[in-house]
Amino acid sequence: MARRRTNSRTTLTTVIIALVLLALYQLLDSNGLLSDNSPLQADTQGGFVEVHFIDVGQGDSIYIKTPTQDILIDAGERGDTVVDYLKSLNVDELELVIGTHPHSDHIGGLINVFEQIPVKEVMDPGTVHTSKTFEDYLTLIDEKNMVFTVVRAGTKRTYEDGASLEILSPSNPGEDNLNEASIVARLTYGDISFLFTGDAEVPSEKQMLDAGYQLKSTVLKAGHHGSVTSTGDDFLDAVSPEMAVIMCAEGNSYGHPHKETLVKLENAGIEVYRTDMHGTIIVETNGAEYEVRYAN
Ligand SMILES: [Zn+2]
Repeated sequence: MARRRTNSRTTLTTVIIALVLLALYQLLDSNGLLSDNSPLQADTQGGFVEVHFIDVGQGDSIYIKTPTQDILIDAGERGDTVVDYLKSLNVDELELVIGTHPHSDHIGGLINVFEQIPVKEVMDPGTVHTSKTFEDYLTLIDEKNMVFTVVRAGTKRTYEDGASLEILSPSNPGEDNLNEASIVARLTYGDISFLFTGDAEVPSEKQMLDAGYQLKSTVLKAGHHGSVTSTGDDFLDAVSPEMAVIMCAEGNSYGHPHKETLVKLENAGIEVYRTDMHGTIIVETNGAEYEVRYAN
């Protein structure tokens, strides 16, 4: 009798302890304490992809690190901001640089990058611009014997680490509005994807929609610094991102990002990150989950 009572009391104690531990675990988990403390687990191949939205003031610059590739999209205005940032990450070579379009807030800093970091290949929309900046950019590509690839929508690179990069625009760029020549690229790693839009505006967005490309992406780099001339309703519906990044300078003279774009993103329940408010924004993914952090 006594023994049985002891047993049932032991069982009851065990059940109570288990319940308390379960409640404690749920409390910690709901407060994000458990998930935040455990780092992102590597994927089955042990790999991560990092995307750095570098704060270059009024301009774009995005550094992508896959397990096998170092890729740079634009580098803001002329100056060493991006070179210094890449050097701080010990990037000693770039497999690929994308100069989205010839405006100086995108390719200016690439001149400094080309002078100081070896680059294997440059993707360019192949449109002509008469600025000194564009001339210097082309001269260096030539002098340093980089592979110069004029890309069009439909080009796709798949890397041995499983990451892939697909070019969705331009299809047939004119010379009137250079923003519309912007190279738009979609990076995929496992289930997580990123859409980099340069300064592509609504007509480019419509071409991508009409072409039937897979646009749905986890992260959207909002087109043209959050201008109202980009991120049209249909395009945003198709991309349907969880988060959007706007790259612009605090107090810039263009009024970027435009309020209409911010309201649209907010109404769609999209988490917005801005380089003018957060500085450099880093998204790290194992192909299944992603984490956002700020550079120090
Ligand atoms: Zn721009």
